[in-house]
Amino acid sequence: MEKKIALIKGDGIGPEIVDQAVRVLDKICEKYGHTFHYQRVLMGGESIDATGVPLTDQALADAKASDAVLLGSVGGPKWDSQPGHLRPEKGLLQIRKGLGLFANLRPAYLYPQLKEACPLREDIIGDGFDMIVVRELTGGLYFGTHETNEENGELVAHDDLRYSESEIRRIAVKGFEIAKKRRCHVTSVEKSNVLDSSRLWKKIVHEVAESYPEVELTDMLVDNCAMQLVKDPKQFDVILTENMFGDILSDEASMVTGSIGMLSSASLNETKFGLYEPSHGSAPDIAGKDLANPIATILSAAMMLRYSFDMDKEADDIEAAVRKVLEQGYRTPDIRSRISPEGEIAVGCKGMGDAIVAAL
Ligand code: NAD
Repeated sequence: MEKKIALIKGDGIGPEIVDQAVRVLDKICEKYGHTFHYQRVLMGGESIDATGVPLTDQALADAKASDAVLLGSVGGPKWDSQPGHLRPEKGLLQIRKGLGLFANLRPAYLYPQLKEACPLREDIIGDGFDMIVVRELTGGLYFGTHETNEENGELVAHDDLRYSESEIRRIAVKGFEIAKKRRCHVTSVEKSNVLDSSRLWKKIVHEVAESYPEVELTDMLVDNCAMQLVKDPKQFDVILTENMFGDILSDEASMVTGSIGMLSSASLNETKFGLYEPSHGSAPDIAGKDLANPIATILSAAMMLRYSFDMDKEADDIEAAVRKVLEQGYRTPDIRSRISPEGEIAVGCKGMGDAIVAAL
């Protein structure tokens, strides 16, 4: 198969981790006879330095013309004093909107070899957990009108939270489709005891559920979900939720795994097109030192193969290679054991890439 991949290396550790993901993709090409054509696209700080803006129209057009986008991460102290519309992170919002990426997928998986990094008690962790947060990404509170006005001599702020039936239906369909590929359980998270937008959310999710009789649906209020994530994370398979709840819950879900450098993410539109990136930021504190963990980006590349290219076998292969190198003891500094580091093989970003390529 031949595919065109837009590569946005970005800032901080971005170039280092994307380089390792590309090596892994090249190995997959060699093994399975595929050809991936890469096109460099500038975004974030790198784009500001080169063009004055975080994302040019041409860069967006190049990303659109590809089959998928692989992104490192953007941002850093160098651009912190830029005005809001010229900050690197603005490029991220622009590309999500420009590509119509309404579904954000964030898996939270606890590797048995990294159990020690999990902040939860042993009896809560049990055999580990494996969930994915499916978050609506282009509607709701973050995209409504935001206003601050003076009323009766004081400032009053107002943010508009709005969801249409079609916005809810398309993300619900994604959630159920993903559940079908996993353990067939969707937990729909809302605040229907208070919010109209949540009552509509619940109604539409139940309508969509009728087309997926093989998938079990559980309704859960967002406050309860925040508790259940630390009380019993094993109960979750797919967490389906709106933009702001998903923003908060996906960070909570990733924190309970304890290893930010391991967590991938995908943002999808209505077609097979997607943007794939690690869940973490550009880690300026360790940039350029060969200390970054490239696994989150490598697993994001595996998600790209699975969700955009329907290469499930190749994606399984990468995920198995990651598990294998962890079993062999390879550790970047962020996942080194604080209790029993004996038997571990300390590596940097490139060394971890070498090990995963070798495991493939
Ligand atoms: P961060 O995720 O970059 O870093 C938080 C901590 O985790 C740091 O100690 C860092 O060294 C560590 N870390 C992160 N990724 C790691 C990896 N792969 N391997 C080892 N350690 C890793 O979050 P931050 O410090 O809050 O943000 C830094 C910059 O990243 C900011 O400019 C922020 O706006 C930006 N950011 C970008 C994105 C994105 O591009 N999607 C997301 C979040 C933050």
